[in-house]
Amino acid sequence: MPIQILSDHTANQIAAGEVVQRPADIARELIENALDAGAATIDVTLEEAGVKRLRVADDGCGIPKDELTLALARHATSKIAEADDLLAINTFGFRGEALPSMASVSKFTLTSLHHKSNEAWQICAKDGTIEGPEPAALSCGTVVEVADLFYNTPARRKFLKTPRTEQQQVLDVVLRHALANPSVRFTLKADGKEIFRHGSPQTDFLDEEMLANLPATLGDGFAKNAVAVNATSGNIQVRGWTSLPTFHFKTAQKQYFFVNGRPVKDKLLASALRQAYHDRMEKGRHPAAVLFVEVPPEQVDVNVHPAKAEVRFRDSQATFGAVHGAVRQALDAASKETGAHGAADLLKTAAGQIPPSQSLSSASPVYQTPEPRAAETAQSLDLSMPPAARVDRQEQAASVAWYDEKNEEHPLGAALAQVHGLYVVAQSEEGLILVDQHAAHERIVYEKFKNQLAEGGVEKQILLVPEVIEVTDAQAELLEKRHDELAEFGLEVEAFGPTAVAVRATPALLGSVNAQEL
Ligand code: ADP
Ligand code: MG
Repeated sequence: MPIQILSDHTANQIAAGEVVQRPADIARELIENALDAGAATIDVTLEEAGVKRLRVADDGCGIPKDELTLALARHATSKIAEADDLLAINTFGFRGEALPSMASVSKFTLTSLHHKSNEAWQICAKDGTIEGPEPAALSCGTVVEVADLFYNTPARRKFLKTPRTEQQQVLDVVLRHALANPSVRFTLKADGKEIFRHGSPQTDFLDEEMLANLPATLGDGFAKNAVAVNATSGNIQVRGWTSLPTFHFKTAQKQYFFVNGRPVKDKLLASALRQAYHDRMEKGRHPAAVLFVEVPPEQVDVNVHPAKAEVRFRDSQATFGAVHGAVRQALDAASKETGAHGAADLLKTAAGQIPPSQSLSSASPVYQTPEPRAAETAQSLDLSMPPAARVDRQEQAASVAWYDEKNEEHPLGAALAQVHGLYVVAQSEEGLILVDQHAAHERIVYEKFKNQLAEGGVEKQILLVPEVIEVTDAQAELLEKRHDELAEFGLEVEAFGPTAVAVRATPALLGSVNAQEL
């Protein structure tokens, strides 16, 4: 075949492969057009999950009669004029591909009343030909109707999932945009039934009312089990809600991220959220979250994905840090207030009682001599300790009585014995408790670290004689670079020639430690 230029119709059908693969994509493009047009009300209507008919009506600015046909031409857009405009884009659309793409794979109707006109006009497209404009009846805004999706590209139709799944995906798109735009009234009707409604002009972005009215699609009880996130780091702002560590799901589906008001599915943001929970939620469980990230527009590239679902951050580390930090901060505040993460909090209280002289360094193990150590650990763990850990009947009775009285102050129960010098066996009203002493001690020190850090830095112990340690020059450089961070953790390290550092202070919590090992 000789080389030839593809017809517009064919080129549009090819582009449609990237932009519109399923009804949810069409819903997204049409909703975004409506938002770009300044709509206050957006109504989405489906028949047969949107495959038979998908209609989006808005009350935005409308399209002038003489631009209707142009709107269906490829790369026709009113939103950017040149590539440089992409660097600071504040509309959803800019590719000028959505309408021509969907018009090439459906029976398509566009009706609009431009806000400066008092006559509505309609055009229809089918099989690559456009009819109209013809006068139409419409009181405001724009209505787009996409019927018989993929009627002319049956191969595409085969890739559609069950109507249930397709409809669920449309709902997800509507939900995401509704969350991002709480002052816009959204409705979704499917086969004559309203299945979603959200937003009102009075709703302020992120106010209490919005939280209370978060759709049930987010999981029953999210509003009651969510903590507010609100933090700024540099020029990145993170706001929204995230679930308490006790409220979690099998999948990460109930995590909604927005970047500058644009719903995105982004791996970086998802992993920042996941890591913020890493020591508070069981592996394999996922929090629910609604997080709005605001970054200066020139620091995020939205033009990396035809469906605009992905974004690229210029400074991905700063973005990660901002989201991670904001969520941690919210969770910390919540756990202080409500004691929300159970065991860790018990240990936190217990941590206040651990003798400061104990060291974590493995060269001098903390738990060497069973008898007295058991008592010490038990005390530090808030276990009530009977006067002697031998259990004869009489004493057992005594110890039970003893823990009954003191039960409230000793949530981990009454210590009975120690096994292999490693585990403490305790009983509480609820049952038998086994404590791994070493792990528990590490956890206590860790919680103490976190507390001190939160209160302005880890207490340090100045060494009488600084300890000089040989390192490689790369290590020396790294240590110097992270000097401030290490100092916050109570470790004072100074350069000492190109291949050595002098340790001036170590974290007081660790007692006397081997600085080299540390
Ligand atoms: P893009 O959104 O990338 O500009 P589209 O193909 O989605 O491309 O739309 C083409 C143009 O049609 C838009 O730039 C806009 O001017 C106009 N348009 C589309 N939908 C609407 C709408 N609902 N209200 C007003 N104008 C619209
Ligand atoms: Mg568009």
